[in-house]
Amino acid sequence: MANNARFDLMNMSISRKKVEIENISNKVSDYFGCNVFGKNTIEKYVSYSIFQKYIDSIEKNEKMDREVAAQIAQGMKQWAIEKGVKSYTHWFQPLTGLTAEKHDSFFMPDNDGNAIEYFGASNLIQQEPDASSFPNGGIRQTFEARGYTAWDPTSPAFIIETESVKTLCIPTIFISYTGETLDYKAPLLKSIHALEKAVLPVVNYFDKSATKITATLGWEQEYFLIDEALFYARPDLVHTGRTLIGAIPAKGQQLEDHYFGAIPERMLDYMADLEKECHKLGIPVRTRHNEVAPSQFECAPMFEECNVAVDHNQLLMDVMERVAKKHKLRVLFHEKPFKGVNGSGKHNNWSMSTNTGKNLLSPGKTPKNNLLFLTSFINVIAAAANYADLIRASIASASNDHRLGANEAPPAIISVFIGDALTKVLKDIENTVSDGKQDEIVTEDIKLNIHNSIPEILLDNTDRNRTSPFAFTGNKFEIRAVGSSANCAANLIVVNTIVANQFKKFKEDVENLVKNEGEKREAAIIRILKKYIVESKHILFEGDNYSKEWEMEAAKRGLNNVKTTPHALDFFLEKKNMDVFIENGVFSAREIEARQEILNHNYLLKVQIEGRLIGEMAVNYVIPAAVRYQNELLTNIKLQKDLGMSESSYQGTFELVQSISNHINNLKSFVDQMIENRKKCNKIEHASDKAKAYCETVLPLFDDIRYHSDKLEQFVDNTLWTLPKYREILYIK
Ligand code: ADP
Ligand code: MG
Repeated sequence: MANNARFDLMNMSISRKKVEIENISNKVSDYFGCNVFGKNTIEKYVSYSIFQKYIDSIEKNEKMDREVAAQIAQGMKQWAIEKGVKSYTHWFQPLTGLTAEKHDSFFMPDNDGNAIEYFGASNLIQQEPDASSFPNGGIRQTFEARGYTAWDPTSPAFIIETESVKTLCIPTIFISYTGETLDYKAPLLKSIHALEKAVLPVVNYFDKSATKITATLGWEQEYFLIDEALFYARPDLVHTGRTLIGAIPAKGQQLEDHYFGAIPERMLDYMADLEKECHKLGIPVRTRHNEVAPSQFECAPMFEECNVAVDHNQLLMDVMERVAKKHKLRVLFHEKPFKGVNGSGKHNNWSMSTNTGKNLLSPGKTPKNNLLFLTSFINVIAAAANYADLIRASIASASNDHRLGANEAPPAIISVFIGDALTKVLKDIENTVSDGKQDEIVTEDIKLNIHNSIPEILLDNTDRNRTSPFAFTGNKFEIRAVGSSANCAANLIVVNTIVANQFKKFKEDVENLVKNEGEKREAAIIRILKKYIVESKHILFEGDNYSKEWEMEAAKRGLNNVKTTPHALDFFLEKKNMDVFIENGVFSAREIEARQEILNHNYLLKVQIEGRLIGEMAVNYVIPAAVRYQNELLTNIKLQKDLGMSESSYQGTFELVQSISNHINNLKSFVDQMIENRKKCNKIEHASDKAKAYCETVLPLFDDIRYHSDKLEQFVDNTLWTLPKYREILYIK
């Protein structure tokens, strides 16, 4: 065999030894949350009255006393030190899509030169990360230096353990000195608050005892797991998270034998280790299984309150990477790491519940409860119908563009699936409720009719449409077009805000009918719901979202089908869309503009980096291997000629040489063209225009480059090819 490092890497990958997993206990309940400073732990470290004040301020969303913060800081420090922690960090979620931290030590020298451990209220509440290089969309000029982080007491602090260091992490929001939000958490908290405020009065129509509404989220995370050695041998995976070139293997996922197949042992070890780490951090992961593509997996937790669930997903992604390194594996969160192989998504399972334990999207046992269910359900549909474009914009990213509409994931057209049973219920309401004033008997009849036609249990898997981007799945909506690498909050900020807005509008509409027409409230509710059903029809779709027919049908219905990020991001700046954020107190106009700019900037940087890399790989890896092989072929032809053999004996070899030349020439010329186009793009000033130019003139050339590169991969002698191939990366045991 030729002396090729690729073969050594493969052998290394195959012969990996088992990683021993520390066995702390066989029972998860023994260690679940042991690294979390949650309510149960706080209670043990502060006085009773302080604890009560802390709980009070969280539940009522009120400002916390300095004294309470000081006591919590004291308790947090003591708990952390007992656990062997020496330093702490404010943990935040900047718009890069990753999490960020800046570590500080508890240690301080005192006046006498002795060491003390100090952590006071101000350390807990606020920190200034030197964050001038985080994206800020022009809000915070770099020379202004810093924004600051501020404690989010609604999400518990936790300890991150690496092999030798333990760090206390404090969830925080990240804001500029002028008060604008520069992260995902601050607007998420504002959107949750807007939702709680708007939904509660409507719920109180039906249930006076509810005093608080909570948005709930259960995410599902898809990912690829590959061997570390092979990962490092692919510069595209290392620097962009996806393969920019690479021929599809003979055996792809045609057989779908990976799906629900046995999880390979090495991966299973990884997952067991990952789950243990998650459980210590209080992340309630429960399910694990194979996905459709080889080496693709999914994990999902029990759902939680939205803010904590988002933190847990961000934390999960950190933990996944750390545990993977221990197992000499690498996790790929990219939405489309391999061409011709299914990509990865993240499903946001979203609902709302009351503090009395009722899930608002779960049909009830009585006609009254069912009217509450229908009110919630129809208002969510109406919100999606009115702001479908914002939902589209919320899931836009350079990496997710490769997945949306690729016949494996929901398309870029937003529609809502509700299933047969509820389609019928909505039709019945539409047909039985009149537009004029209802009399009492009719109202009661309709209520009973609704009740009898909603099956109590809708959680039937057969009635699911896996192609829908926004599907009702029995007791929650499942938003399936979110990218696997995304922060769940990007989408949830929009969902919470538009639903909050819709509930506000609903309450106004109902109260206007009561006031102006003297309608009884229940009758008014039913009439308004009917009106919304009629107005929102265009968003409902039960068919195959991947089909061409749907694209045509959606166009007829006036639904947008915006396939690329820079164009989808334009939706943020439309007046109606800006207003919904501003009116619900989630973003200021300046924040929306800044965010749109940052997201465009992120997009163009990603495409720019990919462009540089694909060019380099073509010139440094692909062409040299092809030329080497071509030389061998030419030597062979020359030898045959020298020996006086007939032309027909080297005919095939000669044709190979010609094909290789042809692909090399094309490859080179597409790379040159792409470089030229990049230069032109770089002269454009405005982020959004520049992103569009990259999208339209640089990105399409990747396909041409790739085509010729992948052809060469198939022609060139396997022993001369230096990049690990798909079949090697994707089929580790
Ligand atoms: P699948 O889509 O794979 O069939 P499941 O029905 O098991 O999944 O649920 C997927 C996710 O939905 C889980 O994370 C679960 O916790 C979450 N989920 C269930 N009920 C709710 C709810 N009321 N609010 C938010 N998420 C929920
Ligand atoms: Mg799902």
